[in-house]
Amino acid sequence: MDQGTARELLDAERAEASALIESMHARLAAVVDAAVDEHADDEHDPEGSTLAFERGQLVAQIDRSTQRVAEVDAALTRLANGTYGRCLDCRGDIAEVRLEALPATGVCITCASRRHRSRW
Ligand SMILES: [Zn+2]
Repeated sequence: MDQGTARELLDAERAEASALIESMHARLAAVVDAAVDEHADDEHDPEGSTLAFERGQLVAQIDRSTQRVAEVDAALTRLANGTYGRCLDCRGDIAEVRLEALPATGVCITCASRRHRSRW
């Protein structure tokens, strides 16, 4: 993949993740406000636990998106130093179709599946 295309894909991915983080922060603020209101009305309102659940989901999504931005930044660094598209684990080339689907990825499909398996 040429540098210009990679840069465009990474910029788009970063913009998307940043926008997501922003909108989830706004929703989180709304959920927190709603939870405060619920608490004032009735501590045992079942809505309260729904809000706590939604808040947990939002926090997890924000974490994931923040991680994604960090991965994109790392990929941009690799692009700048000429190692973009090379697997961080085996140093082989990452397939173009994989980079198109996951522009921020740092590992090839073989290493990605090995990493996944090693968690178990
Ligand atoms: Zn690899």
